[in-house]
Amino acid sequence: MDLEQTDRTEHARQLFAKRFGKRSSVSVRAPGRVNLIGDHTDYNDGFALPMAINRYISVAGAASSGGSVRVFSEAVGAEAVLTVDDPSIHPPGWERFAAGVLHLAKEAFGGLPAFDAVVISSIPKGAGLSSSAAFAVALVGMAEHFTGRSLEPIAKARLCQKAEHVYAGVPCGIMDQLAIIQGSRGHALLLDCRSPDSISVPIPADEVTLLVIDSGAERALSDGVYADRRKECEQAAEALGVGALRDSSLEMLESEKAMLDDTQYRRARHVVTENNRVQAFAAAARESDWINAGRLMRESHVSLRDDFEVTVPELDLLADEAEAVGPSGGVFGCRMTGGGLGGCVIALAKRGAEKPISVRIAKQFDRAFGRLPTVHHVRGAG
Ligand code: ADP
Ligand code: MG
Repeated sequence: MDLEQTDRTEHARQLFAKRFGKRSSVSVRAPGRVNLIGDHTDYNDGFALPMAINRYISVAGAASSGGSVRVFSEAVGAEAVLTVDDPSIHPPGWERFAAGVLHLAKEAFGGLPAFDAVVISSIPKGAGLSSSAAFAVALVGMAEHFTGRSLEPIAKARLCQKAEHVYAGVPCGIMDQLAIIQGSRGHALLLDCRSPDSISVPIPADEVTLLVIDSGAERALSDGVYADRRKECEQAAEALGVGALRDSSLEMLESEKAMLDDTQYRRARHVVTENNRVQAFAAAARESDWINAGRLMRESHVSLRDDFEVTVPELDLLADEAEAVGPSGGVFGCRMTGGGLGGCVIALAKRGAEKPISVRIAKQFDRAFGRLPTVHHVRGAG
């Protein structure tokens, strides 16, 4: 347990004591995650390389005799008394989501005793670092403690994914939840979203450093576009006669090109080449070949920009500035990460080079957009 973590746990405990006038008996935490490479591949049964990061949702709690579950969220600045048996009573928002997660946990465990909890967070909400999945995983951790039961990692990930679908209205894949549950310090996860199996891939902090640069661009339009992209991918798979784009090779796509319209062809080309890039990145990382890994990140960004069309000017500028710095200036590669249409880029940089790089990129961003991006220096955590 690092010092930061000890501080966070202590902060949650103190807040709990202040809020509920008693001592907490349990603390759990769940990390956020960032995707190093492999975006818009998960719902095509493909591959991704997410990494749990050293930003956390931490929860302190104790059993209660009050009959209901009470949760205080420091980030929201409010306490909720949750109707776990009927989450839809809550209006859409964090209370419904929390009640939904605990509803599903209660079903899975055959009961759930009342408890009180305080939630603190160092994961920015809505920035694409998956605070929602971390929040859900941490709440299930509390439910496991108070029931004395536990779920296998994949079952736990599926429960949290279902909560996003049903109670947050987000039709996400399973990548975030698995990355958060199975992540380990200093490693990313090579994830096969079909099986879903995963293999650890070392990202040694003494060689490279990871910068997540938040453009601050809202992802407001993303819902409709996300659904459109899913549909275009399904149509492309159907035209190619495969169950999912995961089953198509680049050769197959090229030989069947006449079966697809131009949009479907480009969407499919992104997914097929991105799957290849994920595998190649994992192989490069195992050999500490960061030049090659960085080149693959750049190719991924260009593919998401030109073929999949989910970047925005803010993301392109950040990626282009990082590309201009290049390996000689300390940046191996940079790409948008997550669903796109706003949110963050991730840069793979030389250890020790993060400061000057952040300053230079932020300056250019400020010049173009009149504000500064937020830079998070992250490392693989569990
Ligand atoms: P992201 O997962 O990229 O951070 P989302 O919009 O998917 O963004 O998730 C944000 C949602 O997750 C919030 O609306 C809320 O329901 C839940 N959430 C995340 N962090 C907290 C927190 N600290 N307290 C309460 N709810 C939270
Ligand atoms: Mg989320």
